[in-house]
Amino acid sequence: MTDKLEEYFQYVEDNQAFFIEQLAEVVAIPSVSCEAERRSEVIKMGNWLESRMKALGVTVKLAELGDQMLEGKKIPLPPVVLGKYGEDPAKKTLTIYGHYDVQPANFSDGWDTEPFTLVETEDGRLVGRGSTDDKGPVIGWLLCLEAHQKLGIEIPVNLNFCFEGMEESGSIGLEELIHEEADKWFKNTNYTCICDNYWLGTTKPCLTYGLRGNNYYHIEVSGPAADLHSGVFGGVVHEPMTALIQVMSKLVDSHGKILIPGLYDQVAELTPEEEKTYEGLSFKNEDIISDLKSDVLAHKSETDTLKARWRYPSLSLHGVEGAFYSSGCKTVIPAKVIGKFSIRSVPNMEIDTINELVIKYITEQFALTESKCTINVKCEHSGRWWYASPNHPNYIAGSRAVKRVFNTEPEFTREGGSIPITITFEEELKANVLLLPMGSANDGAHSTNEKVNKYNYINGIKLFGAYWQEIANL
Ligand SMILES: [Zn+2]
Repeated sequence: MTDKLEEYFQYVEDNQAFFIEQLAEVVAIPSVSCEAERRSEVIKMGNWLESRMKALGVTVKLAELGDQMLEGKKIPLPPVVLGKYGEDPAKKTLTIYGHYDVQPANFSDGWDTEPFTLVETEDGRLVGRGSTDDKGPVIGWLLCLEAHQKLGIEIPVNLNFCFEGMEESGSIGLEELIHEEADKWFKNTNYTCICDNYWLGTTKPCLTYGLRGNNYYHIEVSGPAADLHSGVFGGVVHEPMTALIQVMSKLVDSHGKILIPGLYDQVAELTPEEEKTYEGLSFKNEDIISDLKSDVLAHKSETDTLKARWRYPSLSLHGVEGAFYSSGCKTVIPAKVIGKFSIRSVPNMEIDTINELVIKYITEQFALTESKCTINVKCEHSGRWWYASPNHPNYIAGSRAVKRVFNTEPEFTREGGSIPITITFEEELKANVLLLPMGSANDGAHSTNEKVNKYNYINGIKLFGAYWQEIANL
């Protein structure tokens, strides 16, 4: 089979122009899931996948998820495009997840080129919204399948595709669908692969085995029935914003240390084995500084930066709803303000315990202000952290595939963010999940000038084929 893989790699090399054309075709469909007026484009993108998959002989089912209220309008949710290719009991079954919706993008946001027109730059970037997140990977799997067919190479695994169109808007309905289909469509899944994250740096491929969770809070402080004039009521009443700021200032210090008692008690101990995993990674603090165009790093060493992102909790203050934020000087006393913050959680923190500690602490801190305003603290949404063993066969297959394509060992990484669907897949399908990224750390997903490097895209397509083969070889 080794020679077959070489043949496949050569085919991918020879067909780069076609693969880029295909990416241009899907980038041109502005499938922005958070804008009501573009919902038809999301559906169009789902239909594009459906017809492309059918043409490849994939059995396709469009899982309809009903309607959604958005911007005051009732609009249909885009379907989850389910695909099945091969049901050979002698082969392993691989479930592949990706999403075909994208973040909003407008030229006026600061793009150098039109966001929905793929542009290939001289330095090898393929620039366009969705190029890396997540259309490149999604069509990459299909192009991989097509290439095998053209070469007459048998697909060494059974494939289950799951492409959703609402990932950038909270994956509405997906969890229920996976639960529903776990013993049906996704039956017999041995391994799951999600390609929706990025290399740690820009030079070395990686496999990702951990994610942080997130608990998001609202602190509502209310006082008078309506906004007041500070000339009349300043010094006369207890002001909601004053109490809120006092409370919010007690949550985290300027070095990022969370001040809520008991919160660190649940964090898993750092073992010597784990300590070793931070050694020799290609990550550099300077990369962050140059990406941010500012040195605001809280840590001196690379290891401490990565630990802060991967294995320790963090608390970020996000905003205050109801506060005066426009330019100029308005002498208003806001009647009600809602402070927003979230906690990124790590092994072995429990969502309920975090909530208890947070609510108890904020209630105490608010009492210390002696304000006559009222407070209400609520966890608005929460998602658990995820951690898989990097020694699992799925990771071994991923690692061998990386070696075949890139001639180097992958970096084993965790991420500071959350991909909640990872946990859903793992729990519902009872199969290990591998996060196998295609894109590079500086792709700018969600940002202006989003790109995927041609190198990552083309080699990513090779990687997918090598991964299928290595799964079969396990
Ligand atoms: Zn994504």
